[in-house]
Amino acid sequence: MNIETKCLHAGYTPKNTEPRVVPIVQSTTYVYDSTDDVAAVFDDPTKSLIYSRFENPTVMAVEDKIAALEGGIGAMCTSSGQAATMCSLLNILQSGDSFISTATVYGGTINLFAVTFKKMGIECIFVSPDASEDEIKAAFKPNTKAVFGETIANPALTVFDIEKFAKIAHENNVPLIVDNTFPTPILCRPIEYGADIVIHSTSKYMDGHAVQVGGVIVDSGNFDWTCGKFPEFTEPDESYHGIIYTKSYGKAAYIVKARMQLMRDFGCYPSAQSAFYLNLGLETLAVRMKQYCQNAQTVAEFLEANDKVESVNYPNLSSSPYHELAKKYLPMGTSGVISFVIKGGRTAAVKFMDSLSLASNEVHVADIRTCVLHPASATHRQLTDEQLVAAGINGGMIRLSVGLENIDDILDDLKNAFAAV
Ligand SMILES: *Cc1c(COP(=O)(O)O)cnc(C)c1O
Repeated sequence: MNIETKCLHAGYTPKNTEPRVVPIVQSTTYVYDSTDDVAAVFDDPTKSLIYSRFENPTVMAVEDKIAALEGGIGAMCTSSGQAATMCSLLNILQSGDSFISTATVYGGTINLFAVTFKKMGIECIFVSPDASEDEIKAAFKPNTKAVFGETIANPALTVFDIEKFAKIAHENNVPLIVDNTFPTPILCRPIEYGADIVIHSTSKYMDGHAVQVGGVIVDSGNFDWTCGKFPEFTEPDESYHGIIYTKSYGKAAYIVKARMQLMRDFGCYPSAQSAFYLNLGLETLAVRMKQYCQNAQTVAEFLEANDKVESVNYPNLSSSPYHELAKKYLPMGTSGVISFVIKGGRTAAVKFMDSLSLASNEVHVADIRTCVLHPASATHRQLTDEQLVAAGINGGMIRLSVGLENIDDILDDLKNAFAAV
């Protein structure tokens, strides 16, 4: 199946007389004929359903669809993108370990990495997304167990050189985890460039309609967990009657372990209802992503030609320092998200944003409706000035998420707001 077809058909194939649409299985529990049947499920939880804290048929249909879209061997949905980021790393790291991340990642991710993980004894070593191979190699410590980056960073819009980071990660026998939220698998499939694990906030384009908060972790099945660095995968898990993940689950060791340990213990699983909404969004993802890119390209060019604008950051513009990387990894376009710096700093940014009428001011991005956000006073408010600079954020910076309204209406709204500044 081509990707447009997978959006509609992967993950759920109804049999004779079954519902055409993935049904909502709104049940916490599942019944068994006998005590022995229950015991068998506990022996191998991948064989049947146990409890909706970590598996549910509606959610699993969506997991299979997203795994198919990304080209992975399995996926696990989570109740938010943050939960996906957290579990993707905690499945590998423990107290005393470190990992490397690019500094241009989502603000919530920076807090998780720099503050919360630190309290748990896990160190994040931040590197520039533009770091040279030697700089990245020098960042590794003996206890470094993973590398992390965002394909298109939110909101800095830097483009992550997936192949470069994958190569260095693999030379050090550690996996590369890529947050692919902005491109979605329609615009980029990081596994094809060497990523081992792909995560998403499904709250963004995948859902697209701003109706559910969710996340997902996709396992490529390609990383060799038996390389010697990951005893949690190759030694008996005492919390699961001595199971050895690499032995029992082979290529799926990572994603099975994530479900059996982390989802069991943390319980950050989405509801069936949320997964149902997410699935509706996924069905039109391919059509929507193409239109977001087309609208955003027009808006980016309009902004670049506007004399009230100091700079425009959109990787698909030829003026972008990331244009070459964008052409390589994102040949169909770089999503609907643009950031730009308005002349006059914070005051002008606020005046401009408050003068928009079609575009709404909201703490969201990648919505079907055009929306704007001022990162310095919202998502990145917790960051120090130093961290703001490292994350590529300026006081006059506006993040504009171009939606699917008619392009002339979007441009009219922007023109009116510029006239008010
Ligand atoms: C929004 C976002 C997250 C966090 O996702 P939630 O679903 O809001 O928890 C993580 N990464 C990126 C790139 C995001 O844009």
